[in-house]
Amino acid sequence: MDMRDGFVGTVGQTPLIRLRRLSEETGCDILGKAEFLNPGGSVKDRAALWIINDAERRGVLKPGGTVVEGTAGNTGIGLAHLCKAKGYRCLIVIPDTQSQEKIDLLRLLGAEVKLVPAVPYRDPNNYVKVAGRLAAEMENAIWANQFDNVANRLAHYESTAPEIWQQTDGTVDAWVAAIGTGGTYAGVTLYLKEKNPQIHCVVADPYGSAYYSYVKTGELHSEGSSITEGIGNSRITANLEGVSMDDAVRIDDQTCVNLVYRLLNEEGLLLGSSTGINVAAAVAVARKLGPGHRVVTILCDGGGRYQSRLFNPTWLAEKGLTPQGV
Ligand code: PMP
Repeated sequence: MDMRDGFVGTVGQTPLIRLRRLSEETGCDILGKAEFLNPGGSVKDRAALWIINDAERRGVLKPGGTVVEGTAGNTGIGLAHLCKAKGYRCLIVIPDTQSQEKIDLLRLLGAEVKLVPAVPYRDPNNYVKVAGRLAAEMENAIWANQFDNVANRLAHYESTAPEIWQQTDGTVDAWVAAIGTGGTYAGVTLYLKEKNPQIHCVVADPYGSAYYSYVKTGELHSEGSSITEGIGNSRITANLEGVSMDDAVRIDDQTCVNLVYRLLNEEGLLLGSSTGINVAAAVAVARKLGPGHRVVTILCDGGGRYQSRLFNPTWLAEKGLTPQGV
């Protein structure tokens, strides 16, 4: 018999998908961890579960309590599902620039959604800081604090990475991922480096994010902007502290969009923009390493969440990002 116990038991143990055409083209195995198949639809289900379990274990979240978070979307969705499954209230603070689909879904899942203007992190009214303040003012409430709560990276150290190791029999040459909070990149990198320090761990970075410059020059500096959601950042979060970055690859939006449409047309996989950044960077790493290598990345979430943007030809044309060569 093969069963999973409820929503909680269904988080993780996702397949590792070999992307056939890109693998053939590069002579490498380009492998994507299918995080869009988590029950809440993204890689963030793991972080959300570990954060709630950690708060329960520490006794700071008690029955009937509230989970508060400032989130660009997927962590909120994961938390909202888990709050229903575990009997908590959920309050999500979200910048008003995020896609309508994500906001609608959060409300459908029973979360209270507070929309705030998108202002930089240094501003006290940044959504992350608003969430922290609200949680502190409430009784029996936790601030999930995904950026600096290392239960986030522990989720990937204890689940995503061992799964990748087992699924590949430890034959990984490179690991590539974009950074939002850094939980995924950091947790998997820490585990893989412990197993084999030779594994090449590479940050995939969109424009508007500071990690490419950080890796190349040691300075957190960003330039340009990106249509991608949930990735890119300008600081070393607690989750990223002490984590190796062997190299970085910067991917522009056009390359990302082209890749997302290739994954749809060639593989039948409908995936989001952060996956476009990840897979485009994985291909760049594979080309650099040469044929015969195995490169692992993350298929973060599904494309259904981006119908009004990434999969809307009018919106893409307005941004000058009509898919090319696909
Ligand atoms: N892709 C998407 C779609 C996301 O929502 C996130 C999380 N913000 C990431 C990638 C990055 O994951 P992490 O927070 O673990 O760095």
